[in-house]
Amino acid sequence: MGAEGRGNARPGCTYLNPSPVYGPVHSRRFGLSLGVNLMPASGKICTFDCLYCENGFDADRRTAEPHVPLERVERELEATLERMRDEGTPPDQITFAGNGEPTLSPAFPQAIEAAVRLRDSLAPQAKVGVLSNGTRADVPEVRRALLLCDRPTLKLDTVSQGFAEALDRPNVPYDIARQVETYASYEGRILIQTIFLRGSWQGNDFDNTSESYVEPWLEALRRIGPKGATIYTVDRTTPAEGLAKAPAEVLDAIADRVRALGIPCSVGY
Ligand code: SF4
Repeated sequence: MGAEGRGNARPGCTYLNPSPVYGPVHSRRFGLSLGVNLMPASGKICTFDCLYCENGFDADRRTAEPHVPLERVERELEATLERMRDEGTPPDQITFAGNGEPTLSPAFPQAIEAAVRLRDSLAPQAKVGVLSNGTRADVPEVRRALLLCDRPTLKLDTVSQGFAEALDRPNVPYDIARQVETYASYEGRILIQTIFLRGSWQGNDFDNTSESYVEPWLEALRRIGPKGATIYTVDRTTPAEGLAKAPAEVLDAIADRVRALGIPCSVGY
């Protein structure tokens, strides 16, 4: 479906990241975080089309360019880490994220290996993290690469199949029950990331802060047993107009319930 058919889209409020290295940015969660974007700077490549995606809707961000070649990723990451080391400002984290789903890059496993190697030699205190929607977490080479990372952070916005289809809008087969079991198979070596929000878009109401959404999601966390969770809410730059932040006190209350399960939980407002 083209952008026009989606209604109320706001591509001008969203942004694309440079590629293959961007930032660093100061993040409350990660400290000084250096981004690695395996997607081209000219567009977005993702298996989801989330209503809240800061990169914009897939239809507005199509690109004919391929993923960035491994050699370029390695070269630019090495040069940036050397410069940061020489300036006395090494990153706290090297984060694979960027314009879409990082694990879609054919070079993802090798890029993670390269990042770990460069981290060890140039920024040994830095963590290596990935922000992924988890749709490829069951692919063996992706799994191996995620397990090389200190902070493999995988998305689980809801355990409602209908809500996921309305909010995250997967463009690949996506079954929540299977997703939860895939995450559980990581045996506590991943982190879970979830957005909570309210609002409406195109006549549909969105609110996953109510008990009917939170309790089953907590049950899934119990089953997955992640080493941590992050919950957050929308920024102003959502492509779908009408989505609103979940109130801070609501996020805090959900985070307390996660911690009561023995799972560390950070909150981004
Ligand atoms: S998974 Fe991430 S990159 Fe992909 S559409 Fe959703 S928010 Fe955007």
